[in-house]
Amino acid sequence: MDPWRPLTHLNKEDLQKLQNQKLHYFLNTYLYPFSPCYRKVFDQNKINPRLIRTVEDLPRIPFTSKRDFISTPQDEERFKAFILQPDKAKIRAHWPAAKLMALACTSILSGRQAVEEKLIREFKPIFMTFTTGTTNRPVPFLYSHHDIQNLYTSGSRMLSLFKIQPSENILNVFPYAPHLAFWQVVFGALASNALALSTGGGKVMGTEGNIAAMMKMKPSVVLGVPSYIYHVMREAGEKGCRLHFIKKIVLGASRITPGFKAKLAEIVEAAGASQVSILGTYGFTEARSAWAECPTSLDISSGYHLYPDKEIFEVVDPHTGEVKKEGEDGELVYTAIEARASAVIRYRTGDFVKGGMTSEPCPHCGGTVPRISSDITRLSDIKDLQLSKIKGTLVNLSHFDALFSEILSVEEWQVEIKKKNDDKFEVDELVVYACARQGAPPSQLEDQIRKKILLATEIAPNAVHVLTREEMVKRLELETANKEKRILDKRPKD
Ligand SMILES: [Zn+2]
Repeated sequence: MDPWRPLTHLNKEDLQKLQNQKLHYFLNTYLYPFSPCYRKVFDQNKINPRLIRTVEDLPRIPFTSKRDFISTPQDEERFKAFILQPDKAKIRAHWPAAKLMALACTSILSGRQAVEEKLIREFKPIFMTFTTGTTNRPVPFLYSHHDIQNLYTSGSRMLSLFKIQPSENILNVFPYAPHLAFWQVVFGALASNALALSTGGGKVMGTEGNIAAMMKMKPSVVLGVPSYIYHVMREAGEKGCRLHFIKKIVLGASRITPGFKAKLAEIVEAAGASQVSILGTYGFTEARSAWAECPTSLDISSGYHLYPDKEIFEVVDPHTGEVKKEGEDGELVYTAIEARASAVIRYRTGDFVKGGMTSEPCPHCGGTVPRISSDITRLSDIKDLQLSKIKGTLVNLSHFDALFSEILSVEEWQVEIKKKNDDKFEVDELVVYACARQGAPPSQLEDQIRKKILLATEIAPNAVHVLTREEMVKRLELETANKEKRILDKRPKD
C-alpha cells in the first residue's frame, strides 16, 4: 500500500527526518556497496558514506552530469557503472544485521531459492527507457521489479493529485517509444484502476485515428505532448467533433506556459467542453519518475509535487554549484533514495527552475510535500551541445552534419524547424531541403533522407524537398551570408 496520503500530511520536521534517514540508509546499504561508479567517487574523494547523515551533508558529494553517461572510446558502456551490482560477498559485508537475518529467515522458511528470487526481484534489470539525443547513442536507464513498482507509485500519485477516479476513461496519446513519458502513463493508469487506451500517438495511429479513438471512448482525461494535444484538439474541433466529455488534459515532456493552457482550453471549450483542468507534469529519464501539478485555475500553477520518500531535490547555482535557499532560482539537482538497477545521486539535470523549491503546504490541495516551481527551462550550457526539443524529442542539432555527410548522394542540405501554420502553440515540423550530388539519381534521395533521419533522431521529417543546386545555394545563402543557413529554427522563442 502506497503511503502517499499520510505522506502528503506530514509536517516539515517529520519529512526532513524521513529524508535524512532514507538518504543515509540508501547510501550505506545500496549505493556505496553496489554501485561501481559511486564507490569510486566516494573512495577517490575520501568520503565516508557513514558520515553522510542529513540532506545538508549532500554537497560533500561531487555532482554527476549528463557527460558522465556519455560513452568514450575507452569505455563504450559507461551507463553500466551506474547500475547497482550486488553479490553475496558485498551483501554480507554491507547489509545491516536485521536485513541479513530477514534473508536467513526466508531461507529457512521457504528455501534458498526464495532468497534468490527476492534478490532478483529487487535488483535484476528487466525494463529500460532511454534518454534522447544527448549523445550519438541514447543512454539506457534500467529498472528492476522494485523500480517498476516505483513507476506504478509515481504514476498513481500523479493520478491521485489529478483526482482521477476509477470510473473515468483515460486516453494516452504520448508517442509510443522506449521513453519515460509513454511508460509512466501506462504504469500510472494501470495502478489507478481507470480504463486507459494508449494509442501510441500520431506516428502509430495518425491524427485521424487518435480522433476516432477519442470520439469512441469519450475519455474524461487525455494525456500527451502539449503541441500534439493542441493539434489533435484543434483538428477535432474543426471537424465539428463535440468534446463535452473532456474534463482533464495532462501535458508532459515539454515546458507549459499559462498562455498555452489558456489557448488549449479555449479550443476544447469551443468544441463543447466546460471547466477543463489543464495539468502539467515534469519528469526525466535519469529519475525514472515524473511529478505533477495539482488542479488550479488555468492562470496559476501549484508547482510540481515531489515524492520526499523517493528522492531529494536540491536547487544549485549553475555556475558555482552552491546550494540555493528555498524559493531561489537555480539548476535542479536530483538524488535517488529509493532506486535499484540504474541509480544516480546529485545529478545535474541541466534544467533551470525559476522560483526554486518550497516546503510550504500547497495552497490548492493542502499537501505538505515539497514542490518545485513549474517555470523550468533548459540551461544555456546544455544549448552549447546544441540540444533542441523537436516534436517533444531531444535532438542534438550538431548531429545533422554527420548524418547528412553519411548520405553520399546528398550534396547540400538544410533543415528547417518550424511550427505548423506558424502558430506558436501548434506541433513542431521538421522540413528538409536537399540537392543531389552530380550523377546521383535524385529520385531516391527523399527516401534515403527520411530513413536516415528517423533512424538517427527518432523523428520523421514532415517534408523532404529535393531542389536544384541553384535553389539550394539561394536557400543556404551560401553566396550572400557570412555563415550558411544550415539549420533554421523558426520557432518563436518564449
Ligand atoms: Zn497541491
